[in-house]
Amino acid sequence: MDLRELYQDVILDHNRNPQNFGKPDASNRQADGHNPLCGDKITVYLTVEGDRVVDLHFDGVGCAISTASASLMTESLKGRSIGQIEELFEVFHQLVMGNADVMFDGPDLGKLVAFQGVSEYPMRVKCATLCWHTLNAAIESKQDTVTTE
Ligand code: ZN
Repeated sequence: MDLRELYQDVILDHNRNPQNFGKPDASNRQADGHNPLCGDKITVYLTVEGDRVVDLHFDGVGCAISTASASLMTESLKGRSIGQIEELFEVFHQLVMGNADVMFDGPDLGKLVAFQGVSEYPMRVKCATLCWHTLNAAIESKQDTVTTE
């Protein structure tokens, strides 16, 4: 099986049917992100209880990579602690930058591995990481819009 094809299918599926898309009825943290290079705009909504993110949603407009990344991120992080999320972001960031070695000693990325191919398209790295930077801002309750510039 061609793994690259499989990964791309995951991305296409999540772009077609984004999970956790739309503003939720209730949340206690949120932040906006913008990637001017591509035009991606996102708002991330979180429900944080103690040190755990119990619910995540997003909305906005963006390219297939940014939408799929936000969809997979919200799906993958539900119920995780803020410490675990920081670790996953670090590993995910290294992965899309092309440092695949991190996967072997970092936490299990699960389906997020689909974004490994993004490392071959440097312009797309910001599309894939925008939602994560925005998530961080929401966790830290920053008021300013996050920009990838
Ligand atoms: Zn984009």
